[in-house]
Amino acid sequence: MNKIEHIGIAVKNLKESNELFSKLLGAPPYKTEVVESEGVATSFFKAGPNKIELLEGLNEASPISKFILKRGEGIHHIAMDVTDIYAEIERLKKEGFTVIHESPKKGADNKIIAFLHPKSSNGVLIELCQDSE
Ligand code: ZN
Repeated sequence: MNKIEHIGIAVKNLKESNELFSKLLGAPPYKTEVVESEGVATSFFKAGPNKIELLEGLNEASPISKFILKRGEGIHHIAMDVTDIYAEIERLKKEGFTVIHESPKKGADNKIIAFLHPKSSNGVLIELCQDSE
């Protein structure tokens, strides 16, 4: 794995949190994007070389809405940048991790992504992501 690509934070109200994080980081989000397949609205902030993703669930079935119901707002996942997501999925399966998405899917910010189940990684949801351009 190359580096932490971004940290994902679950929020109840993306509009309010965009304002809050703009104040916190001193710059507005460089991108906002709805990912219909995941039922989420997202925004991305940069702080130097690092990125933060805010996620709001668009409906009750959204994984983000379910997460907030169970655990409240807060850090939702850590995304790792990988060069070959298919090879990483195979490698991690062999290492005993539970992969939620056996084949990667389209995520926000021009990435293809797959998640590891938090039960197999100390309670932390790990997102693998690879540039899709
Ligand atoms: Zn993410």
